[in-house]
Parts: sequence; structure tokens; C-alpha cells
Amino acid sequence: MNNDNNEIYFSKDIKELVGTEYGDIEKHSKFMKLALNEAKKALDEGEVPVGCVIVHNDIVIAAGSNKTNIKKNATRHAEIEALDSIYLSENASKFGGDKLLSDCKLYVTVEPCIMCAAVLQLAKINIVYFGCYNDKFGGNGSILPVHSIDCFERGHPYNCVSGVMKDQAIHLLQKFYFQENKKAPVPNKRKRIDPDQMINNQDNSSIDQPIDK
Ligand SMILES: [Zn+2]
Repeated sequence: MNNDNNEIYFSKDIKELVGTEYGDIEKHSKFMKLALNEAKKALDEGEVPVGCVIVHNDIVIAAGSNKTNIKKNATRHAEIEALDSIYLSENASKFGGDKLLSDCKLYVTVEPCIMCAAVLQLAKINIVYFGCYNDKFGGNGSILPVHSIDCFERGHPYNCVSGVMKDQAIHLLQKFYFQENKKAPVPNKRKRIDPDQMINNQDNSSIDQPIDK
């Protein structure tokens, strides 16, 4: 599980890395802004706003935004969309997808989920920069450290840098959930049922059971 510098693959906040090659906030923010633009596109399309770009030698070679609703496919996360645009491009056939991606940085507004974290290992991405943490499904340290697990036969562990423009990423998510909450109907007050009454009732099927959601 060691990289070339004999260190465990890390997931660290960019502020911890200032002064190293990973901690150039100005440079990495420039690319994260482009990922945020992708996330804004997702927001405009009614998707959970997550966006990413893939960078090779300081040039953006792919971009993607979350399209799970539009494509009715729960796997179409921003990272998968961006990777597909490389695998399906002429560059992939010219350089080989894995060879190309092993020299690429991926910038994504929200920590990759466990699925995407594993896919990025298989794609042999060089490094991942992300904005805010994904507290429910994060695969770069929040829930599972998939980036650093050396268990995939064809995979390659990678380092992660968090906290790049995280406030902007969180702001977009808040905007999305605010919009969704406005659309949701006002819930009826739950009907409280005395458990003793339920036992005494001959026809339990007619009882209006509370549903937890
Ligand atoms: Zn994902």
C-alpha cells in the first residue's frame, strides 16, 4: 500500500499540504472552478449538483456532471461521465486509456462515492482533488478509504486532496436541497396510534400505519 515515496496513500485537506506540490491553492482552485461550472449545469438540469474535470499536463481533457436523473441510471455520476468521454475519444485509442489517466488529475466538487472511488482506482487515475466531503457514501476517506486499498487486481491506489473550494461546492448542494424541499408537499401530521388499541382491533389491516421515511 505504499507509493513511490514509501508513504501510505493519503487523503488530506489542501491546507495541510500548503508548501508541497499538492497544496498550490491558486492553481488547484483554477481547475476546481471549472468543475464547479459543471456542477452548476447539473443544478440547472435538476440533478444533484456535482461536477468534475480531468486534467492532463495542465490542460482539461474531459468534463462531466451528474446525470443520474436525466439518464435514469444511478451509476451516471460526474466522474463516470468524464471518464467515458475519454474512453470513447480518439485520445484513448491513441495513448491507451490507462496510460493517459495515470498522468491525469481529477477535480470533483464532492468526494467521490465508494463506487466512483473504486472506478478511479481501476482507471489508474494519478490523483483526486475534491471540494466537500460526502458523509454518506464517500470513498476517499469519509466512509471507506477506497483510494488507498491495494486490493484490486488491476487497480492503482491514489492520493486525495480535500477542501478545494469546498464552501462553493456545499453552497450548490444547499441550493439544490432548498429547491427540492420547496417542491415537496407539506406532510400530513402523523396519526398517533395507541398500541393497545391496535391489539384490540379485530381488523388491523384498516389501521392507518405511520410510515417512516
Ligand atoms: Zn460516484
